[in-house]
Amino acid sequence: MSTPTTALLKKYAELAIKTGVNLQKGQPLMINAPIEGVHFTRYVVEAAYEAGASDVQVNWSDDALALMKYQNVPEETLKNVPEWRVKLYDWICEQNGAVLSIAGSNPDLLKDVDPARVALASKASGEALQNFRKYTMNDKITWSIIAIPTGDWAQKIFPDLSKDEAVAQLWETIFKIVRVDKEDPIKAWEEHNATLEIAREILNKRAFHKLIFKAPGTNLEIELPKGHLWKGGSAESEKGTIFNPNMPTEEVFTMPHKYGVNGTVSSTKPLNYGGSLIDEFTLTFKDGKVVDYKAKQGEEVLQHLLETDEGSKRIGEVALVPDESPVSQSGLIFYNTLFDENASCHIALGKAYPTNIEGGSDMNEEELDQHGVNDSLNHVDFMIGSKELDIDGVTSDGQTEAVFRNGTWAIDVTTK
Ligand code: ZN
Ligand code: ZN
Repeated sequence: MSTPTTALLKKYAELAIKTGVNLQKGQPLMINAPIEGVHFTRYVVEAAYEAGASDVQVNWSDDALALMKYQNVPEETLKNVPEWRVKLYDWICEQNGAVLSIAGSNPDLLKDVDPARVALASKASGEALQNFRKYTMNDKITWSIIAIPTGDWAQKIFPDLSKDEAVAQLWETIFKIVRVDKEDPIKAWEEHNATLEIAREILNKRAFHKLIFKAPGTNLEIELPKGHLWKGGSAESEKGTIFNPNMPTEEVFTMPHKYGVNGTVSSTKPLNYGGSLIDEFTLTFKDGKVVDYKAKQGEEVLQHLLETDEGSKRIGEVALVPDESPVSQSGLIFYNTLFDENASCHIALGKAYPTNIEGGSDMNEEELDQHGVNDSLNHVDFMIGSKELDIDGVTSDGQTEAVFRNGTWAIDVTTK
């Protein structure tokens, strides 16, 4: 194992700019990146200027400094997001810019920090950046999340390797999963997007009224609102630019009815929520709302997540991912939602994407609620898929059809 070649890093950078955010000539780009990834990030910035970026702004983050902040600052500081930060995010939206987030952080970073302090900060940031989130969740701007290895994260996945070996191994793994190892990754993504488009069209035609999930520890009924839309793969911005919000992405997803979720669901992979892990947890829903929960690990973190606001106790997304997904086939647990959610069927606590219902982007808050569209400061995906998962779809006239059997598609989603 060795560190990736410049050629591969540049291929990945180009893929992020062209297929990820699909940066257009004259557009500014904002990048969020870990300082550990400075080498790769420079290639991304280079690719952005080559694509005609009018300006590139990089917001560096550093796990070590983030931890120091949590350990030292008074609560007052955690509760207050500086105005300049909010303005920075609003600026990029107003300029019709693109936003690329390069993820890569230690999933255990905040494990010894009081979960109440972490919850304070994440709620404050959620509230402060509400306008920005409206832009991304309605596809008003183009945005994308990709990931790169960082030392602590790589070693969490590959604990038997040295830090350098683990990082090299994770690069190799990521390149395979995001198709950078292919001759022409951009073309490979076009083909992949076309496949996901067929799957979502087939599900849109079915227009199921309900999905029923059954697996060990799971018996959950999810009502889908009238006019719900399945999405997946590439998205289209308000200005008509095709972009890929997540790389990798292997899911097709839609919104549940916020008042129509009943039963119990058990997680199948650990959830990294803001630097702490929640694992082996079960949620019980009644009329869309979590009425009971327990977790073997991180129960207090889960409690803070659920208590963020009213909408955090309801779900805003249901996503289907077959076991054949390359992320699943890697056999790894990534402790990072961008990867783990693409290895497994998942649902998300919190806000729904308004784009998952006909006319949703133009609805006001009251209309969204009437249509069963959940709202929250949170949108936290967690994994519920496994080889033992069966899903039935129920149509509005009461017909039942097998959608998933033993963790994979039971209906043909490959041909229209
Ligand atoms: Zn999803
Ligand atoms: Zn999600």
